[in-house]
Amino acid sequence: MSILELVDSARKINDNKIEEFSNIKNKKKVGILGGTFDPIHYAHLATAEFIKDKYNLDWMFFIPTGNPPHKLGIKTDKYDRYNMVLLATETNSKFIALDLEIERKERTYTVDTLKDLKNKYPEAEFYFITGADAICEVESWKGMKKNFEMATFIAATRPGISLLKAQEKIEQLEKKYNTSIISVYVPSLDISSTYIREQIEDGKTVRYLIPESVEKYLETKNLYKK
Ligand code: ATP
Ligand code: MG
Repeated sequence: MSILELVDSARKINDNKIEEFSNIKNKKKVGILGGTFDPIHYAHLATAEFIKDKYNLDWMFFIPTGNPPHKLGIKTDKYDRYNMVLLATETNSKFIALDLEIERKERTYTVDTLKDLKNKYPEAEFYFITGADAICEVESWKGMKKNFEMATFIAATRPGISLLKAQEKIEQLEKKYNTSIISVYVPSLDISSTYIREQIEDGKTVRYLIPESVEKYLETKNLYKK
């Protein structure tokens, strides 16, 4: 199968998962992992799976950002980033890729995404996952008070980010916003998209760091090459 056929097939499978999800009308716990996913890698997938299991979440949404205010230098086409998420999540029946942010014309903010999801799926209880790096920056996000009302935040450890520093920040946020934030140790995988991009740019291997289908996609599309 060509890579475009593989993406098409992953899209159909994803559509079926969304339909199945939408048809469940009783309460369900849903984790959300947002990111640029430029590209998606095994640390994203392993973190999502670990947290889903640990907190008995029923589903996990992967939401690639469209035009985030804090990352203006994304060179990769948003549809390529989304297609790679489709491919990477295909084999997990509870992992769903959502394109609501990449389809938004304006700047994308988490608060708007959460509002959309709450309206669309009133029976869902949302858990928003951020890496320990991101939790330290949430105060610069728009509508943070509202975000904490709409979802329970889970801060996941990430290699290279001092947990002590994150913990201090988390306690400050809890006080200021009168909320509870879950912090969780995730078995570390020291992988980042930046590292993947650099490896590819240097003509080095990324095998076993990203799913094979994603590797095939970025090779075919010539992504991240010099
Ligand atoms: P980049 O290097 O381009 O910033 P990234 O690897 O940080 O990419 P993002 O798309 O920025 O990936 O991250 C999406 C989410 O996944 C963020 O909440 C981030 O903290 C988390 N995340 C990314 N890599 C890891 C990792 N190795 N361990 C735990 N969490 C991670
Ligand atoms: Mg990052």
